Amino acid sequence: MKVIVAGAGVVGMTTAWVLARRGHQVTVIDSHGGPAMETSRGNAGQRSYGFLYPWADPAMIRTGLQGLLRRKGPLKIGFPVSGRTLQFLCMTADFATRRGLFDVNRRAMLQLAMLSREGFEEVDRTLKIDYDQASLGLLETASNRERQSILMQKTRLLDELGIEHEWLNPRAARLHEPGLLGSAPLHGAMYLPGDATGDSQLFTRGLAEACRQQGVDLRYRVEITGWDIRYARIRGIRVRDYAMHQAEHAEGSTGYLSADRYVLAAGCGSRELARQLGLSLPLYPVKGYSLTAPVRNEHRAPRSTVLDDHYKLAITRLGERVRVTGFAELTDFHRRLPERRLQTLRQGFNERFPGSVDLGMAKAWTGFRPMTPDGPPAIGPVRQLENLLLNTGHGTFGWTLSMGSAELLGQMLDGEKPSIPVDAFRADRFSR
Ligand SMILES: Cc1cc2nc3c(=O)[nH]c(=O)nc-3n(C[C@H](O)[C@H](O)[C@H](O)COP(=O)(O)OP(=O)(O)OC[C@H]3O[C@@H](n4cnc5c(N)ncnc54)[C@H](O)[C@@H]3O)c2cc1C
Repeated sequence: MKVIVAGAGVVGMTTAWVLARRGHQVTVIDSHGGPAMETSRGNAGQRSYGFLYPWADPAMIRTGLQGLLRRKGPLKIGFPVSGRTLQFLCMTADFATRRGLFDVNRRAMLQLAMLSREGFEEVDRTLKIDYDQASLGLLETASNRERQSILMQKTRLLDELGIEHEWLNPRAARLHEPGLLGSAPLHGAMYLPGDATGDSQLFTRGLAEACRQQGVDLRYRVEITGWDIRYARIRGIRVRDYAMHQAEHAEGSTGYLSADRYVLAAGCGSRELARQLGLSLPLYPVKGYSLTAPVRNEHRAPRSTVLDDHYKLAITRLGERVRVTGFAELTDFHRRLPERRLQTLRQGFNERFPGSVDLGMAKAWTGFRPMTPDGPPAIGPVRQLENLLLNTGHGTFGWTLSMGSAELLGQMLDGEKPSIPVDAFRADRFSR
C-alpha cells in the first residue's frame, strides 16, 4: 500500500520504519529541513518505560494548584488565559475527575511502553544507531517521607505488570548515582532498572537513514497546506514545496500528493491539520525547557537519568553531555526562553549534581509537548475518514512510546488484531 506519513519527528519516523518493514511504500513529509527538528529535538532523553503517567491526574488538581503558587513551581499558566488554554484546562479537569480513568489510562500507557521497549531493543540489535544511549535505569528522588509514600502507592500496578522497581535509601541511591551530593534533600529514591536513555534527535536521524535505505521517500521542506476529501475519503494532500527554493523567504511551489492511506503524526501541528479534516483533536502545546551542557567532572556527573521531585526536573546523561529539563507551561505557542526559567534549571541541577557540568557552555532549548487533555496518545483510524490514521498526541512521553505506537499503528493499518488493548488510544475519542 502507498502510505503518506505527515511529520518526521520521532513518532512519524518510527511509523515510517515499521510500515516500510511491513512492505508498504512510504513517503514522509515534513516542513523542516530534516528529521526531529521540533519537539523530538531537545527532550529529556528518558525512555521511561516504568515511569508513565497520564496528564489528567486527579492529584494534579491539588498539587498543580500548589505548584502554580510557587515561583519556581513546574506548572505555569500564561496570563491572560487564552480561550484555548481555558478549554484545555476544563477538559483536563473533566478527565481527571472521572473515577478510575487515570488508572485505566496509566495501565494502557505502561502496556504500550512495554511494546515500545521490545521495538527499541530490536532496532538497537539490528541497526546499531549511535544515539548516546544507555540502559542504566531511572531514579526518581523523594525529598521527604510524604513523597516516598506517594511513590510507594504507585508501585502496585508496576508489580501487576511485572515492571521491576526498587525503593532505595540515600546510600543505595548514591551507589547508582555517586554524584548525587547536592544540597537538595534526599530521603530516598525509586529505582526503575528497566528504563533507558538516549538522544531522540540522534536516534531519529539514524532511523531516517535506515528508512531511506529501506526505500522510504523522505520529503523535507514540504508543508502540508490542505486536503482533498471526497466521500469520507482523502484523495490527496496539497503541499507547498520549499525544497527547490533555497532563499529563506521563498514562496515555494504548490504540489499535490496522493496515497492509499494517510498517517497524521505531526506532533503539535496535528491539531490544525485535523481541523482542516473536520476532526476535533484538542492537542495543547505544553511548553518545556532544556539545557544541554558538556560534562566537566566525570565522578560527579549523573550516570543515567534522575527525576528530581524537589524542582521537578529530569536530569539525563547523554554521552559526554548532560541534559536538564523542566517546566510544563500553558502559554500557547511562544518560543521565548526567559532567563528565570533557565536559572531554575541551573539551580535545580546544581542542588543535585554540583560542579559536574559546564553550565556556562549549556545550549538552551524550548519545545512543546503535543498533549491530549486526558494523556494517552491518539493512535489508529477515525470513523469520519476511512483512509486516515492518527499517531499523535504523545505529550510528555513521545520518545518512550514511539516504537510501541508505531507498531500498534502498523497492526491496525494491516487489519491485524492489536497486540495490546487499544481503547485508551481511540483516535476519535474527542470527536462527537
Ligand atoms: C521539555 C520536554 C521534555 C520531554 N522529555 C521527554 C522524555 O524524556 N521522554 C519522552 O518519552 N518524551 C519526552 N518529551 C516528549 C517528546 O519529546 C514528544 O512527545 C515527542 O517528541 C513528540 O514527537 P512527534 O514526532 O509526535 O512530534 P514532533 O517531534 O514535534 O514532530 C512533528 C513534526 O511534524 C511536522 N509538521 C507539523 N505540521 C506540519 C505540516 N503542516 N506540514 C509538514 N510537516 C508538519 C513538524 O515540522 C515536526 O517535525 C519531552 C517533551 C518536552 C517538550
